[in-house]
Amino acid sequence: MAGIVVVFDFDKTIIECDSDNWVLDQLGFTDLFNQLLSTMPWNSLMDRMMKEVHDQGKTIEDITEVLKRTPIHPRIIPAIKSAHELGCDLKIVSDANIFFIETFLKHHGVRELFSEIHTNPSFVNEEGRLRIFPHHDFTKSPLPCNTNLCPPNMCKAMVIEKIQASLSTEKKLIYLGDGIGDFCPSLKLKETDFLMPRKDFPVWDLICQNKKHIVAEIHEWSDGGELEHILLHLINSIVSSMEENNNNNNNGNSSSHLVSAVDCKLQTISVTAH
Ligand SMILES: [Mg+2]
Ligand SMILES: [Zn+2]
Repeated sequence: MAGIVVVFDFDKTIIECDSDNWVLDQLGFTDLFNQLLSTMPWNSLMDRMMKEVHDQGKTIEDITEVLKRTPIHPRIIPAIKSAHELGCDLKIVSDANIFFIETFLKHHGVRELFSEIHTNPSFVNEEGRLRIFPHHDFTKSPLPCNTNLCPPNMCKAMVIEKIQASLSTEKKLIYLGDGIGDFCPSLKLKETDFLMPRKDFPVWDLICQNKKHIVAEIHEWSDGGELEHILLHLINSIVSSMEENNNNNNNGNSSSHLVSAVDCKLQTISVTAH
């Protein structure tokens, strides 16, 4: 393990569009969605829209086919694979839903590269209709969000806090996102973490207006090619600085064992082998 956790947003970060809009547009439900959007929260409306989709004879297979065609920049999947190969722990934090995300990732053969997906739960019921539920049940208790920028069903800052609590302190986080909902978790990142906002997207504007509240190192990106380049560069430089620290520590230890600095490399190898 590289000691790095990479947390991806899904919509407009991994994929090029918003998966909810993509599915509804492709199935011909855009107008109804737009009509109803002012009447209920987005997450509740998506569950309602899946009823409409089902009632009009569209099947789970129809939704799956649409999800497989979701636009994605050609360098995103290679970037995910490389980050995994470099030993990073990959996670997704998204306000889409688990069915959309897993269907997409499985189609691209990368589902198993992610250790966790934090999103709205969803499942196909006995009638073959997709049900979508809120990540946080706001009918029972309001969402404890510090910025009031998050939707009622999900504050990604809460998820990031949980991830941070589960990690050893020396692990570094890299967070990638584009939307308003990615600002709240950005505030939770530490000085040793890295924030990769998508340039000229809503999270970017919020970050620019609130720079003094962000302590993580910021590296913006515009498209999948830049995402790949910057992410892999960041991972490689974090890994080599961590190795340097390890070597320095090993040097300290080895000098007491009368091992010369020339043997430093061997020492590292033997330490890794253990
Ligand atoms: Mg997004
Ligand atoms: Zn929040």
